[in-house]
Amino acid sequence: MTDMNQIVGDYDILMITLDTLRYDAAVLEEANCPNLCGGGHWEKRHSPGSFTYAAHHAFFGGFLPTPVTTDKTGPEHVRLFHSKNTGKPTHPHTWLFDTPDMVSGLAGESYKTVCIGGVIFFTKKVPLARVLPGYFQKSYWRMSFGVTNPRSTEHQVDHALKLLGETGQEERLFLFMNISAIHGPNHYFVPGAKRDSVDTQRAALRYVDGQLGRLFAAMRARKRPAICLVFSDHGTAYGEDGYEGHRLAHEVVWTVPYREFVL
Ligand SMILES: [Zn+2]
Repeated sequence: MTDMNQIVGDYDILMITLDTLRYDAAVLEEANCPNLCGGGHWEKRHSPGSFTYAAHHAFFGGFLPTPVTTDKTGPEHVRLFHSKNTGKPTHPHTWLFDTPDMVSGLAGESYKTVCIGGVIFFTKKVPLARVLPGYFQKSYWRMSFGVTNPRSTEHQVDHALKLLGETGQEERLFLFMNISAIHGPNHYFVPGAKRDSVDTQRAALRYVDGQLGRLFAAMRARKRPAICLVFSDHGTAYGEDGYEGHRLAHEVVWTVPYREFVL
């Protein structure tokens, strides 16, 4: 069980959202994702939101995806982050923040908070797309990080490595990355494919995993250990029950993969 009160202050924190990754696609690719799944399996969880904007507000409010279980005898789910003084009892392993969101809470613990954006809600091009990046002290978005670039993750990781090079070993780092490659359009990850599908999403995930290895190695090379929290913000429908896309309530949208591990 992760004790966030042992983590905050001593560890770097890397939070990655694999935007739009479906749980079923993630599980089918576990064997082909040595960086994300080398040390374990995806957990099946429910997202607090059905699209990027809603889900990320919840995440930054401390509401990460919830384990999918109805087993009352199983292990208790311990929240990693929770707002202080809500009147609700909290577990001793839960890190409590006394700010509107966990990002500024970590900044209050001397963390350098950095956002590398991917999908449209992180572009900072219009006021709405500045809200989520605005949680962070530093935020970055380039056209090459976005959904239309077939090498977006490579560019995002390159930027992260540059920033890591500028971050002192004694500094506490909270790095958030929204990975855009798995979000549509992703058909170009399968040569000849004309439309997005579970198969093209799986190919995009393999590409992403291949790029994340460089980032994980760079985090491991830092003096502090790092905890990596990696999950999807929502899935997406590819025609199931007539539905297409997300921002709708369907099992393929609300079920997401989740992992946490130490680097
Ligand atoms: Zn999203």
